[in-house]
Amino acid sequence: MPAELIDGVAIARDVREDVAREAATLVAQGIRPGLAVVLVGDDPASAVYVRAKGKATEEAGMHGETIRLPAETSQADLLSLVDRLNADETIHGILIQSPLPKHIDYQSIIARLKPEKDVDGFHPVNAGKLLIGDRSGFAPCTPAGVMEMLRRKSVAVKGAECVIVGRSTIVGRPMAALMIQDDATVTVCHSKTRDLASHTRRADILVAAIGRPRFITGDMVRPGAVVIDVGINRVSDSRAKQGYVLVGDVDFPSTCEVASLITPVPGGVGPMTIAMLLKNTVRAATMAGRLGHRQ
Ligand code: NAP
Repeated sequence: MPAELIDGVAIARDVREDVAREAATLVAQGIRPGLAVVLVGDDPASAVYVRAKGKATEEAGMHGETIRLPAETSQADLLSLVDRLNADETIHGILIQSPLPKHIDYQSIIARLKPEKDVDGFHPVNAGKLLIGDRSGFAPCTPAGVMEMLRRKSVAVKGAECVIVGRSTIVGRPMAALMIQDDATVTVCHSKTRDLASHTRRADILVAAIGRPRFITGDMVRPGAVVIDVGINRVSDSRAKQGYVLVGDVDFPSTCEVASLITPVPGGVGPMTIAMLLKNTVRAATMAGRLGHRQ
């Protein structure tokens, strides 16, 4: 029997509705949650993401500030902007859109953020908190979105065999930390893993974050597994209007025949990322409110 789809669009909509309700409660208390998104340069994909984030922020009744800077912006100027946003009490969350131009050191910029405004969860303090199981920090939005999906689909994580393919700092590593936090037994695979399929076939929950189109095929998946496809890959397709289609890291048709639950691409994990960014921002505003910062 083909797998049931996990509808990321619907789940993300529910999360965003919850966020909007929480934002309205904060506004009634005199705190409008504020998110600043900083885009340096004119990478077209980043511009699309930044527009989507700005629109979602407004739809949730939050204050959004999008700051677009030219590609030749210096590291010193970007650090000054971070300092200004760190000090701005109307801004509770700051997101630096990656990739940054090559002459800017991404890690130094992220390290300059106040950890309590780092709603993307990439500051070393937040990464460290995640690793030691301290839930007071912010987890990166994509793996946090995966956990939220699993929770809302009532997938049991406790005691489950979770196999993650990919060990990036954006997805694979924080995904592993979140799964450990929720008591899964975790295996992290990568390009040097021997006999990958012997690992993936053990998974009750299989997370693919590889960046290779249709890499995980049905024969690599345990019957009844929950398959989460984080991948977003452009594949040329002359029949498509834009000349390409978006596919995941999982071969959908063959895996669908084996898995019990599966996320589609597009419409799976993708929409969750922005929803979790908004959720983190409302949490940042709530925490700032407790410390007595009003707008
Ligand atoms: P990444 O930084 O390129 O990391 C890819 C990981 O896959 C690496 O750990 C790499 O291993 C591993 N890998 C590559 N080839 C492999 C192979 N043949 N066998 C086993 N492992 C292999 O990518 P990423 O940033 O994590 O992104 C992964 C995918 O998720 C991409 O398609 C990206 O577009 C997508 N993504 C989606 C969202 C979203 O919102 N849905 C957000 C972020 C990323 P090594 O470490 O050994 O090189």
